[in-house]
Amino acid sequence: MTVFTLLSTPLGTAACEKHAKALQFIEEMTKNADAVQEKVLAEILTRNAETEYLRRYKLNGATDRETLKSKVPVITYEDLQPEIQRIANGDRSAILSGHPISEFLTSSGTSAGERKLMPTIREELDRRQFLYNLLMPVMNLYVPGLDTGKGLYFLFVKSETKTPGGLLARPVLTSYYKSDHFKTRPYDPYNVYTSPNEAILCSDSFQSMYTQMLCGLYQQKEVLRVGAVFASGLLRAIRFLQLHWQQLAHDIATGTVNPKISDPSIRECMSSLLKPNPELAEFITGECSGENWEGIISRIWPNTKYLDVIVTGAMAQYIPTLNYYSGGLPLACTMYASSECYFGLNLKPMCKPSEVSYTIMPNMGYFEFLPHESTSSALSRDSPPRLVDLVDVEVGKEYELVISTYAGLYRYRVGDILRVTGFYNSAPQFHFVRRKNVLLSIDSDKTDEAELQKAVENASELLREYNTSVVEYTSFADTKSIPGHYVIYWELLVKDQGNAPREGVMDQCCLAMEESLNSVYRQGRVADNSIGPLEIRVVKNGTFEELMDYAISRGASINQYKVPRCVNFTPIMELLDSRVLSAHFSPAFPHWTPERRR
Ligand code: AMP
Repeated sequence: MTVFTLLSTPLGTAACEKHAKALQFIEEMTKNADAVQEKVLAEILTRNAETEYLRRYKLNGATDRETLKSKVPVITYEDLQPEIQRIANGDRSAILSGHPISEFLTSSGTSAGERKLMPTIREELDRRQFLYNLLMPVMNLYVPGLDTGKGLYFLFVKSETKTPGGLLARPVLTSYYKSDHFKTRPYDPYNVYTSPNEAILCSDSFQSMYTQMLCGLYQQKEVLRVGAVFASGLLRAIRFLQLHWQQLAHDIATGTVNPKISDPSIRECMSSLLKPNPELAEFITGECSGENWEGIISRIWPNTKYLDVIVTGAMAQYIPTLNYYSGGLPLACTMYASSECYFGLNLKPMCKPSEVSYTIMPNMGYFEFLPHESTSSALSRDSPPRLVDLVDVEVGKEYELVISTYAGLYRYRVGDILRVTGFYNSAPQFHFVRRKNVLLSIDSDKTDEAELQKAVENASELLREYNTSVVEYTSFADTKSIPGHYVIYWELLVKDQGNAPREGVMDQCCLAMEESLNSVYRQGRVADNSIGPLEIRVVKNGTFEELMDYAISRGASINQYKVPRCVNFTPIMELLDSRVLSAHFSPAFPHWTPERRR
């Protein structure tokens, strides 16, 4: 057999044998999606048969789909709270999983204002690694030669805590970067990063970012791709460069590291990289000192072939800004994953963001789909929800993703709405439509309508002594500047003009709103600097009535009209902004510590 035939796969010609194996694996998984799903479910139910949770539903050793569907309920995180609390408090019995719980992953989805805790087991790391290993074989089919240079990725760890029972609780990526899977990964020419592990693993976000940027600048010619997990993270790095290029250029000119970088492991690993390079420092100064930052990414890293960032879902709002700073480089969305389970990958990573579809890998967990249009009727008491299996979803339809995992979630609603765009072999491909109930999102924060309502209520308490109330409000995620921030439009009823809220009260209302928002929001504000101060714009009396008139003129029914609690339609924004009387910003950071409030 020639080398060529060895490397040729239905997805395309692989770069090397290792890639060919990965592509063949995708081929097999997608061809046999249904059989793989059946096997995965049987494995999950067999190994967890003796758990307290599954015993409760009396499966009597059955591991088939029909039994699962008829006996095990479809649940949300709230339903699992008692079990999760017991595990967090130190109960090590087999509650959800037959394998020991190794740690909790803290999701960016929240429950009662705190991150959801997802119990996980050690072997899940292998499963996540497995999915990561499929990404470059696929990417190489579209962008060859990535083994000849490096990736500039801005990757960060976040703070971790321990639950009362002593288990670590941290975000899934923090868990991954701190694992040996990542720290002692074997050399792979397709996955060489400019950032040293020491910088990625530094929990001080300034030092981490500074070092990663410095390393990226030093190796500017070698960089072939620039990325972060989410679009917001990459834009934060650009903002960081805007603020700190002078110090960075100084370090490069002199071959030193800024004294603010005090982490000894960073200083040690940087010492080998640092050499005075006045020419590069001058180049960076030339590029960064100008007013015009259009295309800055391709100017500083001229060999960049694409940006590797997720721009689907809530991140789509950043596409125009990324295009501006990159001069229109392709945007690659490579994978779709969550704390609960890694789901799948984009088999055409260089497609336009609007055309991104993720192929769920059937070996990652057992997947079911709740038809979205009939969610309420499907969940009514007399007709149990009719969920569809992975291979049975229909093109064009929307579904909510429901998963059963090796780690011990059974028929768990993830909260993501997906639309089927087609199939690869027998595996469906999904467009990420949105996350359910998310009104506002800047980074990984997700604020829903109820949280916003509560925040407005709490903040408006401060107006009570001025006999003033909030009669209407709406909101907007303003991402025109980086970091983005929440804008809340308030229409006030001031009953006694002589006692109108005095100077500074509205600023305190902004802070009170922030205090009421969930911990992911507050962490973004305080620790990650990924969200800017919340803004309240007070609008003229009658503005919300005008908003209604406008909606009705465009065909809304008067009877059914409801004030939208979030707006992003330009004419509406223009209307609101033209009625603004005053704007106020949160004057301080809200309270946040890694510890959970409950
Ligand atoms: P977390 O709860 O922090 O683990 O975040 C997982 C959630 O992030 C998913 O359930 C999705 O809502 C969102 N997400 C992850 N990957 C993508 C993607 N590629 N496109 C859009 N949203 C994503």
